[in-house]
Amino acid sequence: MEGEDNGRFPNAHCLFVDDEVPTVVDPATRPEELERLDREIGIRCVINTHYHVDHVRYNRLFPNAEFVAHEADVPAISSLDENARIAGIAGQPWAPVWKHVMREVWGYVDTKVDRAVTDGGEMSLGRNTVRFIHTPGHTPGHMCVEFVEKRAVYLADIDLTRFGPWYGNKCSSIDDFLASIERLKSVDADTWYTSHGEGMIRGDIGDRLSAYAGVIIDRESRLLDFLAEPRTMQEIVDRAIIFGRRWDPPEMFDFFEGTMAEKHLARLESAGLVALKDGRWASTD
Ligand SMILES: [Zn+2]
Repeated sequence: MEGEDNGRFPNAHCLFVDDEVPTVVDPATRPEELERLDREIGIRCVINTHYHVDHVRYNRLFPNAEFVAHEADVPAISSLDENARIAGIAGQPWAPVWKHVMREVWGYVDTKVDRAVTDGGEMSLGRNTVRFIHTPGHTPGHMCVEFVEKRAVYLADIDLTRFGPWYGNKCSSIDDFLASIERLKSVDADTWYTSHGEGMIRGDIGDRLSAYAGVIIDRESRLLDFLAEPRTMQEIVDRAIIFGRRWDPPEMFDFFEGTMAEKHLARLESAGLVALKDGRWASTD
């Protein structure tokens, strides 16, 4: 199901699986169509690929479904407070506004997850066998969903967009994200679904995965270039190496750009390429 606004946040392209166990993956768009599916067919299973609002926001429309998610993201799907905590949003001055928007504007509700799954776990929906591929990095419990007989994979937020990978939560990990992208190269399938961007891609995606990982490496090399001169964290954030330009509200931009930049700085620091001195980051050569 194509997401509203081309699947842009807070919408996503989602999947309806017409099988003996009617299933929806990441119900996060077109609520009237999702409601119709439940009314006419009766959705019995909802798979959430991770805890972000643009993947779980219409869970509430499926009162009779079994909810499935990776065990590492179950706490944040079950509780908005835990979501805010592991994302690093709790304690930010704008956290109350964020919570209000999540609940009142985007319709987020806490979900009781019935089945916590792990990497390689399988479920039969009838004609389709679903296999879960744990692909952490974006979030700790992010997973892709493989439809074995159909040779199809829902990639969720490994979305192959030109923007590239997003790792703006405190619990996100660049190293894990890169490893997950690499791992997908060995998954044998013909059809790929993304939550954002194109929605469906046919054929081999090896080059697309490499280009997507390359965005991370490119951001890091541009950051390293920028640190030829010593820079404060605010100067690094204002450079907008991840997002390309500042956006509003400024406090939220600072948080997400800063969270992602900090992860690059940590990688560069542990490689001995940058160091912090007198409150400024600079390259070491
Ligand atoms: Zn996400």
